[in-house]
Amino acid sequence: MSASQRPSPISASVDFDVQGVQHGFLKLPISVDESAWGAVMIPITVVANGEGPTALLTGGNHGDEYEGITALMKLSNSLKAGDVRGRVIIVPMMNVPAAEAGKRTSPLDGGNLNRSFPGDPDGSVTSQIADYFTRVLVPMCDVALDLHSGGRTLDIVPFAAAHRLDDLEQERASLGGAVAFGAPYAMMMFELDATRLYDTAVESQGKTFVTTELGGGGTSTPASLAISERGVRNFLIHYGLIDGELESADEPMIYVDMPDASCYVQSEHAGLLELTVSLGEMVKQGDVLARIYDMTRTGTDPVEYRAQRDGVLIARRFPAKVGMGDTIAVVAEVVQSLERDSFSTPKPVGALSTPKPVE
Ligand SMILES: [Zn+2]
Repeated sequence: MSASQRPSPISASVDFDVQGVQHGFLKLPISVDESAWGAVMIPITVVANGEGPTALLTGGNHGDEYEGITALMKLSNSLKAGDVRGRVIIVPMMNVPAAEAGKRTSPLDGGNLNRSFPGDPDGSVTSQIADYFTRVLVPMCDVALDLHSGGRTLDIVPFAAAHRLDDLEQERASLGGAVAFGAPYAMMMFELDATRLYDTAVESQGKTFVTTELGGGGTSTPASLAISERGVRNFLIHYGLIDGELESADEPMIYVDMPDASCYVQSEHAGLLELTVSLGEMVKQGDVLARIYDMTRTGTDPVEYRAQRDGVLIARRFPAKVGMGDTIAVVAEVVQSLERDSFSTPKPVGALSTPKPVE
């Protein structure tokens, strides 16, 4: 953010200082063939009740990640002011043009919102949305939760995650929320490129931040939604915004770490993808994870892709057709704690577990 930047062109139809439940919009002016003096309308709900922290809950950062969108739409419709201590700001679809199109990125400008931070008030629509979050909504909050999943091209085991941060207290506070979320997995996450992420925009303002991946394939299931909805409630309970008991997952929680880029297996071939390991299964370094077949002919051997480290398969490409550079698989290290020397890992409500090895 620079002092020379003009105010955001986005205006909110809700008043963030008013008590009670408000449903409204963030309005971003656009001028297009169909609407000369139009606006992108981003739904927002604010539930405020007295003194307390402010939580910013977001989904639809990527438009085809429906687990978080659906969980937050349901929460927006059900959360009562009397349930809340402080303020809960809910934006179920940050990139609403992408969500309406059922796509990861915006059809208006091709923008990938989570690669557009900190944003620019004079940039594209997607960049203007990013800028509004960076300069208006994030500064209001104490804790932020951003709900992602694999979308149409990935399937991911359900996890909540924190990042390694320079500020150890901030890291610890974030990790506590990730564990309290109560997904089957909790993670210390390594990003391939963190510079333009929403995560980084939030964390760089010193805020407590939890991100998630909650399934994928461009849909939701009863199971993935139950995990998402329970996790959001647990998050709000953990940070003192609502009362209640933390609910744990049915199975013992698994801690995973992504220490470096060797977790990611990316394709150097195009063709037909055969995954040989299921999500949640343990692999050893060198194990075959996947085969890619040349779809133009029979009689040729497939190319094998192998695990670059021991661990558990936490993400896989969802479509069976694979192209150059696509992430095929992600293998995370199973750990007994996510601690640094300076503090011990928060314990889940339930027990800890390790996944079963491949048969
Ligand atoms: Zn996402």
